[in-house]
Formats: sequence, structure tokens, C-alpha cells
Amino acid sequence: MKFDVGIVGAGPAGMFAAYEIANKSKLSVVVIDQGYDVEKRVCPVQNYKKCTKCSICSIMSGVGGAGTLSSGLLNLRPDIGGNLLEFVDENEANNLVNYVDSIFLKYGAPEHVFRGDTEEAMELQRKAASVGIKFIPITQRHIGTDRAPLVIKNFKKDLEKLNVKFLLETKVEDVRKNQIILEDHRIIECKYILLAPGRVGADWAKKLAQRLGIPTKPEPIDVGVRVEVPAFVMDPVIAVSRDPKFHIYTDTYDDFVRTFCVNHRGFVVKEVYDSFVGVNGHSMAGKLSENSNFALLVRITLTEPVEDTTAYGMSIVQQATILGGGEPLIQRLGDLRMGRRSTWNRISHSHIVPTLKSATPGDIAMAMPHRIVSDILEALEKLDEIIPGVASSSTLLYAPEIKFSANRFQVNKNFETPVENIFVAGDGVGLSRGLVCAAATGILAARGILRKEGII
Ligand SMILES: Cc1cc2nc3c(=O)[nH]c(=O)nc-3n(C[C@H](O)[C@H](O)[C@H](O)COP(=O)(O)OP(=O)(O)OC[C@H]3O[C@@H](n4cnc5c(N)ncnc54)[C@H](O)[C@@H]3O)c2cc1C
Repeated sequence: MKFDVGIVGAGPAGMFAAYEIANKSKLSVVVIDQGYDVEKRVCPVQNYKKCTKCSICSIMSGVGGAGTLSSGLLNLRPDIGGNLLEFVDENEANNLVNYVDSIFLKYGAPEHVFRGDTEEAMELQRKAASVGIKFIPITQRHIGTDRAPLVIKNFKKDLEKLNVKFLLETKVEDVRKNQIILEDHRIIECKYILLAPGRVGADWAKKLAQRLGIPTKPEPIDVGVRVEVPAFVMDPVIAVSRDPKFHIYTDTYDDFVRTFCVNHRGFVVKEVYDSFVGVNGHSMAGKLSENSNFALLVRITLTEPVEDTTAYGMSIVQQATILGGGEPLIQRLGDLRMGRRSTWNRISHSHIVPTLKSATPGDIAMAMPHRIVSDILEALEKLDEIIPGVASSSTLLYAPEIKFSANRFQVNKNFETPVENIFVAGDGVGLSRGLVCAAATGILAARGILRKEGII
């Protein structure tokens, strides 16, 4: 088989790259993905972290990539879910976001957007600024779990009309200059190769980079806790933003702490990985709890001589798992402040009933480095000034919550690696962390290819 462009990964980065190339040139394009086509993507357990049922995880893999089976929330800002301003100027970054959004709209995303520039949002921004917190107002489009697969289906159909070939249920084993080698040893000859393997293919991509001699560097990770409070505490900020994001620099260490993934009237859930347990949160349309939860995460960046943030993060979460006896830890904020372990008896004195019952009452200060605990305590105190009640002694903290990042590949402004004609895009190569930015990096890499061909 022979194509001008071979794209590894049918996630947003790969599909938007194919869109750009197919619409602006006559280059032949093949998109290869180990996962299934949209209709075949069904997860039997709906728990992508724990599941070992399928050899290929339908939540993470297949046409549309990770998130096709999720709620598909489009953050319409260039600096959320990655940072396009690292690659292009502000004007181009905003144009890219609008372009990505217009393509999602063209294929059936709903017209309605949740605006981030309301007077209420501006007021919250002012209030937050007065206590040294940055509130990030975001305009968001919510595709929705039921509609996301349909949008992706329309998108793929249109790409096929533009002669883009899809090779599905096909794992790429290796890549050499101008060659993609499939698991069944077939070879696809391509002038240009674009790697867009997503989080699920990040380890594969890292090893590939080592073989090809492409420099990569670890990205920062985020470690912290999931905070659970009565829903009425969060009601006023949820009225302003459905997923309010606050950025805080702590006084003692000047560390960056952020809120992430707010689940109003949601549930804290356990995530089981191979060597540790963590926590996350979710909310359900048909089942509401009395509580709200959100992640409070401390950014960790390491410098020489230890740069492997993943190994460091693993050591923290494994320690927490040992202390929790294989379950996440739960602690009242008041107990953490007093330097004592929580017990179920103490937790029962709170006016908040935990939604994750299997957690082990314990002492988060024994599981996490002092610096992280100090950052969490200081960030909660600051947040309390704009969300009164969030730092009450009854507030529940669950640990550990961790967000790993893929190693970032070295690229030039065309998203080409030092190996000529091998381009990269998306989450799996450390260039993005969300749908819109992943799609935008795919477009930028595609434009890099078109520029090399002299088409643009
Ligand atoms: C459950 C869940 C919910 C999410 N919800 C949101 C949200 O609401 N909003 C948001 O902005 N972001 C969300 N995200 C994140 C978002 O999905 C990702 O940022 C985005 O999909 C990354 O796009 P990508 O193209 O880089 O990679 P992916 O979407 O991960 O796609 C990569 C593709 O490459 C394929 N692949 C990898 N290696 C190989 C190989 N060797 N051979 C063949 N194929 C390979 C994979 O099968 C996969 O289909 C969510 C993620 C998950 C997991």
C-alpha cells in the first residue's frame, strides 16, 4: 500500500489533520487506528481505567479517539486543554479554536454555547482576583454523550467522501522513515507520517521516539485530592459556570494549584490502575447526590537530575495506596488540619455524607509530601474566600488524585520532528490535553505538511 500521508490515530488530532489535508490538497491520506468504527465502539463496563475485558479499550480507542463516548465538552479557549499560544500568536490561536468549533458544528454539535463572558462571570473574576485567585471564564459547547458518536460518524463519512481511507482494528507496530509497519507485518509506504496516538498510545510513542532518536521530555504532572462538599456550598459558583476553573499560586511555595473537573451533585469514584488506586469524580443525568466534588491539583515539575515526573508521581500514589490498604484515603479537612487520622466515627460528626463509601479513613499527611499537603491547605483557605464553606472542617478530602501527561516530542514550528517527514500532534506526544487543542495541533501539523509540499 502506498499513500502520500499516513496518519496513526483516528482521534481528534488525526481526524482534523486528515480534514485539513483532504480539503486543501489532492494528497492521498490513510488514517490507521487500532480501535473500532463508531457504531462498534461499545464499552461493556463503562469504566475505562479498571476494565480488562477488551484487548482494545473502546473508551480510549477507535474513530473519534478518547472521549467519543464521553460528554464531549468543547472548551473554546486556546489555553485550556493545552496551550496553543505556545505554538502560534493569540490571533491565530483564537482563529484555530473557532475553526475547530465550526467543524464540530458542521457535523452536528449543538448550536447552544455556555458563554464565559457574562456579567456574573466577570463579577466572579473580580471577586477571585481580590483574593489572589484567577477565575478562568470559558465559553463551552457541550456536545453530549448521546450526540458525540453521531457527530464523529458524520465527520468520518465526510472524510471518506473526500477520499480519506480508514484502516481500522489495525495496530501500528513500528514506524520508520517513510514506512508504517502494521502488527501483521504489512508495510504502508508514505511520503509523510503523522503520529497522533493519544494518551492510550503515549507509551508506544515514547518508545518509538527513543528508537527513532526523536528527543522527548517529561511534562509536568498534577497530584492532589478530590474535595467533596455539600452541593449548596457550590451552588453560587455553579450558577456562573458549569465547570468553574480557579488557578491559585500558594503563598509558602508559590506552587500552582488548580481546580479541575467539578461534578455538581455528583459522586466520587475509585479508579483502579495496575499498581495503585486513585480517585475521580462523575455526575449522572438521572441520579443526583447531595454533594459536589472537584479535583484540587498541585502542579509538579522536576528539573535535573530527576526529570521523570511520572516515576515521582507513581511513588506518591503507591504510598497512598499502601496506607489505604488498597483503597483511596478519606479524611476530614478538620482532621488534616489537627494532624490526626480520620475515623468513620469522626466523619459521622460531619454534616456531609461521603459518596465513596469504600475509601479508608486515614491521614493524607502520611501519604503525600508535606509540600503538596501545605499547598492543598493554603489553596482551600483562599478558595473559601470566594466559595464560603469550602474549607469547613467537615469538608472531605479523598486521595490520591493524579493526572499524568505524555512526554512532549521535540518539534519545529511545522510540528515536524527532527526525523524528516515525521510529524506529530495531540495528547499522545505531549502537545495537548483536550479535544479542541488536540484537534488544533492536528490542523497545525497538517498545515506543516501542506507547507512542505508548497501547497500553502
Ligand atoms: C473518558 C474521557 C472523557 C473526556 N472528556 C473530554 C471532554 O469532555 N472535553 C475535552 O476537551 N477532553 C475530554 N477528554 C480528553 C480528550 O478526549 C482528549 O484530549 C483527545 O481525545 C485527544 O485527542 P488525540 O487525537 O490526541 O488522541 P486520542 O483521542 O486519544 O486518539 C488517539 C487514537 O490513536 C489510536 N492509536 C494509538 N496508538 C495506536 C497504534 N499504535 N496503532 C493504531 N492506532 C493507535 C488510538 O486507538 C486512538 O483512537 C476526555 C478523555 C476521556 C478518556
